[in-house]
Amino acid sequence: MAEAAERRGGAGLERLDVVIVGAGLSGIGAARHLQQKCPRKTIAILEARQAIGGTWDLFRYPGVRADSDMATLGYAFRPWDDSKAIADGAAILKYIRGVAEEYRLDRLIRFGCRLVRASWDSQEAGWTLEVERSDGEALRLACRFLFMCAGYYDYAQGFLPGWPGMDRFRGRIVHPQAWPDRLDCAGRRIVVIGSGATAVTLVPALAATAAHVTMLQRSPTFVVSRPTTDPSAAWLMRRLPRRLAFALVRWKNIILQMYFYRLCRRKPEAARRWILKSAQDALGPEFDASALFGARYDPWDQRLCLVPDGDLFDAIRTGKASVINGEIERFTERGLELKSGERLEADIVVTATGLVMRLMGGAEIAVGGASVDVGAATTYKGVMYSDVPNLASAFGYPNASWTLKCDLSAEYVCRLLGYMDRRGYAVCTPRLGAAPAGEDPTLPLSSGYIERARAILPKQRLERPWRMNQNYALDLIDLRLSPIEDGALEFRRLERARVRVRLGASSWKGSP
Ligand SMILES: Cc1cc2nc3c(=O)[nH]c(=O)nc-3n(C[C@H](O)[C@H](O)[C@H](O)COP(=O)(O)OP(=O)(O)OC[C@H]3O[C@@H](n4cnc5c(N)ncnc54)[C@H](O)[C@@H]3O)c2cc1C
Repeated sequence: MAEAAERRGGAGLERLDVVIVGAGLSGIGAARHLQQKCPRKTIAILEARQAIGGTWDLFRYPGVRADSDMATLGYAFRPWDDSKAIADGAAILKYIRGVAEEYRLDRLIRFGCRLVRASWDSQEAGWTLEVERSDGEALRLACRFLFMCAGYYDYAQGFLPGWPGMDRFRGRIVHPQAWPDRLDCAGRRIVVIGSGATAVTLVPALAATAAHVTMLQRSPTFVVSRPTTDPSAAWLMRRLPRRLAFALVRWKNIILQMYFYRLCRRKPEAARRWILKSAQDALGPEFDASALFGARYDPWDQRLCLVPDGDLFDAIRTGKASVINGEIERFTERGLELKSGERLEADIVVTATGLVMRLMGGAEIAVGGASVDVGAATTYKGVMYSDVPNLASAFGYPNASWTLKCDLSAEYVCRLLGYMDRRGYAVCTPRLGAAPAGEDPTLPLSSGYIERARAILPKQRLERPWRMNQNYALDLIDLRLSPIEDGALEFRRLERARVRVRLGASSWKGSP
């Protein structure tokens, strides 16, 4: 009875057109797109934490920064003004907050609201959302369309393999995802376990004050130096109107990213030689670049690690940091013992061992009363999922800037909603029809955190629109230019919804 009353719009159930989950880079971007292109839609953003910014608010370790240029990691609609093309975490956070404030998107955010379950009601053609508030209260909301912008990893904890003897270690063990506020690293001997983007960021930053920093890696990772500032961007900014200059810089960087990625995939041996020669030149003859940074895989089998202005190479060359290849046998009271028998003494051990992947912000998604197994679903244009109605997610590129894909995904959602409104459709569902479900992995990288998460990642088919392009130019065609009706997206009308659309009101407001 109570449920029926809620469905009719009674019992205080708030109904919105679109609910965005997550107020990080992609959620704030999605809200801005919707605000601009679907101004009559009622929108709310659910954010589990008490802050805007997601990743860029959570991660506070020394030196935290992007390894993408901000012309492409920033939004297309908001030029990145700073002269630094590679920005630190604080500057990115300021940028996201600035966008939220400027467009008054912060007013849409419900802080401390974690989505725990979304259930699709086909009769009502909408989602019922079960939300856990940080004060312990439970809250229910309803929405027509659900836009998941909840990132891709578990906020509660990072990945920690665990080694024997950790409890015996008398120093401090720190995971970069939970960096303590006042950790004094000055004059300390630090071992950073790991070789990914976080490790190569931390090592030079810590080396600035530490007694010594050792980067302990099981196997090497390719590392590429790039200048923090982009002189050609500065040149254009001085001569052209701001928006035009920004658009040109953005396109230049998009094309360069795509070109370099393709080159690495097509000519891996040449790319390897170039990467290692650059590292060798930066390190000087005393070091063996291929021993330290000659990965066993091909370039871009895993994400390339960027070192701005060669800071990691400088730290190694000047003796403030060193890199050791080895596997940990156990922790001891004073540090680490490696399988080779070598011992590393440390005051602080940083476990830069990665993330735990988690999709849909850990929320259960249910359609027709049954939980959706996202790991078995086939992705539709890399934005929606087979047989899941009225749900999109923002999942950025692993081989280019995250925001490039998220911007296109949000644009597509706006196009889709506008199209549905014009035709009086209430429901859209990607349907495979007679085609078999996808079996191919959606992420083209073999990084540890992706390998560990294969089972929970959606699958793809190799033909459109079931393919994950991982390519901005192809996505531009699929998401911005291709017709909405493509035979794979099934639409359904509801009498009630059609009446409201004709009345010109928000598609889901008021009581029936
Ligand atoms: C250290 C680090 C550096 C990175 N550097 C780069 C880079 O240089 N270039 C690049 O392209 N990518 C980079 N990435 C990837 C990065 O995560 C993205 O660039 C981007 O910031 C992700 O934004 P997002 O909004 O999609 O997700 P997030 O930043 O993860 O934000 C998701 C938000 O959703 C909220 N949320 C999650 N679950 C729920 C729920 N159930 N209910 C309510 N709210 C929820 C979270 O609290 C969070 O605020 C980096 C990632 C890390 C960890």
